[in-house]
Amino acid sequence: MAVESPVEAADRLRRHGLHVTAQRLAVLRAVGDLPHSTADDIDKVARTAIGAISHQAVYDALGVLTAKGLLRRIQPAGSPARYENRVGDNHHHLICRSCRRMVDVDCAVGSTPCLTAADDSGYEIDEAEVVYWGRCPECVVATSDPPGGPERTLSATDS
Ligand SMILES: [Zn+2]
Ligand SMILES: [Zn+2]
Ligand SMILES: [Zn+2]
Repeated sequence: MAVESPVEAADRLRRHGLHVTAQRLAVLRAVGDLPHSTADDIDKVARTAIGAISHQAVYDALGVLTAKGLLRRIQPAGSPARYENRVGDNHHHLICRSCRRMVDVDCAVGSTPCLTAADDSGYEIDEAEVVYWGRCPECVVATSDPPGGPERTLSATDS
């Protein structure tokens, strides 16, 4: 998502029934600048931007903005929660096991096919959390054998 202007961000807060505060604007801006960042990352960026903002204010803002649907919270196994402002499209994520870099990936086919479960057991489904784990291109290059180097068995890294 393109980084929104402070005016657009303030509008979005109002449309969701929230008061416009410098803290909330700073947190929205930080998440827009650093998609999939952790609360600690957002905390640092927001503090650099507006100076006086407590950890608690950042965490409170993240909680409210997520609850109101302005931000999406992703909680991959074994990782702190990440936040992003791309909401409402049920996209999924690719995560690198080595460096933990996370990127967006759209649903496999069409808009949101995985929201149609093979058997919904009568549940009203609104989200399918799909995480693809693997290694990013940089980590694949960094750990592959140099040309002409000794051959190793592929399964050695998986044990
Ligand atoms: Zn990586
Ligand atoms: Zn995402
Ligand atoms: Zn999907």
